[in-house]
Amino acid sequence: MLALTILGNNSALSFKNRHQTAQILTTNDQLFLIDCGESTQIQMQRYQIKKNRINHIFISHLHGDHYFGLPGLLNSYGLTNRIEPLHLYGPPQLIEIIELMQKVSDSTFGYELIFHPLRKAEAILDLPALTVSCFPVSHRIPCWGFSFQEKRKPRKIDIEKVDYYRISKNSLTAIKNGEDVLNELGELILNEKITTEGMPPTSYAYCADTLYDESIIPFIEGVDLLYHETTYLDEEREKAAQRFHSTGIQAATIATKANAKKLLIGHFSSKYENLDLFEIEAKTIFKNTSVTVEGTTYLIDKPLR
Ligand SMILES: [Zn+2]
Ligand SMILES: [Zn+2]
Repeated sequence: MLALTILGNNSALSFKNRHQTAQILTTNDQLFLIDCGESTQIQMQRYQIKKNRINHIFISHLHGDHYFGLPGLLNSYGLTNRIEPLHLYGPPQLIEIIELMQKVSDSTFGYELIFHPLRKAEAILDLPALTVSCFPVSHRIPCWGFSFQEKRKPRKIDIEKVDYYRISKNSLTAIKNGEDVLNELGELILNEKITTEGMPPTSYAYCADTLYDESIIPFIEGVDLLYHETTYLDEEREKAAQRFHSTGIQAATIATKANAKKLLIGHFSSKYENLDLFEIEAKTIFKNTSVTVEGTTYLIDKPLR
């Protein structure tokens, strides 16, 4: 099961306790940081995020509200004697910025920073538990969305059934590997009789800053949780288009057309003090919509089939 914690849900400026974009996606054993607005470290402390469990950071684009927190975070890892290598994914120029900062300050981080430039839609990370892919979105400068797809988990051993069918415990590894096994009477017992299905794999897609753009749909089709920006309400549709952003109606339309299961919206313009209208507007198109709330963790799951 995946879980998403929102650290920042505002657009370019922080406003009334809303901060620039940053999110933490949690799997069983590690955390992934998605974008790193300038308040990210403070928000991590506020919401007790264990930053040393982050080994992969994904930066969507080089507008400041999505990465101005990164230099500070990379520096903090060095100051706290990080040893683990850190993988960073982002537009190619990002590493130039970081290297220039290191050069002019005559300093290094003290741990290995492995940079992965984003150049085309493709899988960028393959772990035992999940794969991560990037896809281009339509913004004023090159910008990338990210999709996280869990892999199917192995079936679980039902130990009561193992005893019932009089199977030796020496066969547990074989059962775990999906094999049919012989019991003490020499009978072949099918694997599906002594195991239950594992938790179904889930998926998350982050669409970064983008215009309304149906070309992203193939990359997010059927996703369990979709995050789509809604910088403006639909009454500002023209301004949204001029600034390469989206409205609540547009995000909800993408969610509907992509057959997403749930929609989270964020990246709100600071001109809006009350966000209720965003949810009301989006729900007219896509009912299962929530306005993101900073500090809230959204579980991404689906019922067992
Ligand atoms: Zn932005
Ligand atoms: Zn932007």
